[in-house]
Order: sequence, then C-alpha cells, then structure tokens
Amino acid sequence: MQKEEFTGLCGEFAFLKNHELTRAILPIVESHLAKHNQEKLPVVWIETNDSGDNNISFMNTTYPYLGRVFTDMIDLLYSNTFMAAQGREALGILDQVAETYKGKFTLVVEGAIPKRENGLYNIIARTENRLITALEAVSWLGQRAEYVVAAGTCASFGGPSAARPNITGSVGVREVLDREVINVSGCPVNPDWFVGTLAHLLMYGRPELDNLGRPTLFYGFTVHRHCQRRSYFDNNDFAQKLGDIECMFSLGCMGPRTRADCPYRQWINYVSWPVKANTPCIGCTNEDFPDGSMPFFTPMPEKEKTGGSGREKIKPTEGCKE
Ligand code: SF4
Repeated sequence: MQKEEFTGLCGEFAFLKNHELTRAILPIVESHLAKHNQEKLPVVWIETNDSGDNNISFMNTTYPYLGRVFTDMIDLLYSNTFMAAQGREALGILDQVAETYKGKFTLVVEGAIPKRENGLYNIIARTENRLITALEAVSWLGQRAEYVVAAGTCASFGGPSAARPNITGSVGVREVLDREVINVSGCPVNPDWFVGTLAHLLMYGRPELDNLGRPTLFYGFTVHRHCQRRSYFDNNDFAQKLGDIECMFSLGCMGPRTRADCPYRQWINYVSWPVKANTPCIGCTNEDFPDGSMPFFTPMPEKEKTGGSGREKIKPTEGCKE
C-alpha cells in the first residue's frame, strides 16, 4: 500500500465511513512486512512520571487487538511496565538492546521527565552503587534511538505531571533531548493515535508533524470541526447546564482550541467521547493542558478573567474554521 492510501485511511472522510484504518491496519502491516522482507518495529518503552493511563489505553486497542500488535507489528524489547523481568535482569536487557539495536529502535516514553534535583524525583532503576533517573535513562536512550515517540500529554508537553506548582520540575521529553520527538499527546493517548503512529513508522518512517510535533494524521483538525453539537454553536444555542443537548461552549468546552479527531474516531472501541457523553472537552491534547484548561467547566472568557491559563491568553474561537 502506498503511503498516500494509508494516510487517506486515517483521514476524516474514510473514517466516517467505517473505521477503515483500524479494520485494515494489520493486513496492511502484514503484507508490507512480507513484501519488504522486513522485521517488526523494535521498541524500547520507558515509563516515567505519569499515572500509567497511556499503557492502559494502549491495552484497549481493538483493531488490531493488543496481542496482535505484539506478535505482528512491534518487537517490544524492553518495557518496565509490560515485561516480566525485574531488577538487575531487566537493567541488563536494557543495556543489551540499547547496544544491539543502536540507531534502529524506536524509543517510546510514557510520562514527563522530572528535572529538579538532577532528576531524583523519578528513579527507574538502582544498581549497587547508584540510582538511575528517568532523566538519565531517557537522555541516554534518546541519543541511540532511530525515532522517539512521546506517548500521552505528560511525555509530550509535561501535562498533569508539570501542572502548577510542578514541584518536581517535570517537562516533556523534547525538553531534555536535542532531537525531534514525535508527540502523540492525549490524557490518555487514544490507542489508534499511538498504534497508527507506530504503523506509520514501521512502513513509511516519520509521519508528517504539526508545529507541536504531533502527527497531522490524527491532530489535523480541531475537535470543534466535527463535533455533533457544532450546529448549535453556529446558531448561538448554548447549554445552560450539563445534560442539556446544546453546545457546551458555555460550560467551558475547549473543543474550539483543541486538535484531535475524537468526534469521529471516539474511544472505548469507538463507542463514545466526552461531548457525546454530555461533558465538555477539557483540551487534553493541548500543549498547556491542564493549566490552560483550568478551571474546568468554566467558559473560556471567564477563564481569561480568572487567569486560568497562566501560560497564554485564550482565544475562544481559535481554529473554529479548521
Ligand atoms: S464548543 Fe464544544 S460542544 Fe460546542 S460545538 Fe464546539 S466542540 Fe462541540
């Protein structure tokens, strides 16, 4: 399959028809691997400062199911979350794969990187003589990886781990690496965004990225663009309270300034998403999440008055036409 066809399958119109990307992804990957006599994508996955929500979301991948991702798509060489090995044995595996697969593996980082106190707020391993911080491990592995993928908003931009007062000095992965990082943001990341990005790396290499390093395949448009309640917004018909059927811009919906394809891709096996479940979008894929979305459920002009963002002035209709 040509890259353009794959990109088309990820897009809004193909997806609106029948979730074509997710249903087709494994056969596409399998035929690509067979045709090009290629290995699966070698992956080293480091979990750092986060809640673990992204690997749980990843485990909810449906097309393909998790087992098929492991058997047919990626070669998970190290993961401090998924692997059975622990302690010295696990650290030995990490050393070995970083050397054997140098320049060939994809580093997935899930979580922010604490920088304060030289990274001491997040220890990922300890040896007889010293502690190994997430800061040290990610810096070291990042120099050896072919691609670096940040899974979730903490890894991408700092996210909740870096929210005020950020006592650990947490930052996104790109702040500690002098190289490109592919940011697959979301709190948590949608399994399709993550698996689709890995599939793209395997078959075509680096995907096209937006100005925040996110694949445009999944973050090309605002949530607002395809929202089921958009006609209410256009008619200035706003909800008064949660549960009302009108547009929830009045209740603090961040859809107009949040890029993601939630309205048509949806979550939990393509069943629902926040607005469909009667709650406003809280902007979890944004660079300034969560501080820029706070206080939640407060209309955006009110957020400006209360200084909710602290990082930027919110423009309520930014991106409405995209
Ligand atoms: S403001 Fe929110 S609820 Fe209203 S149309 Fe936009 S995304 Fe939908």
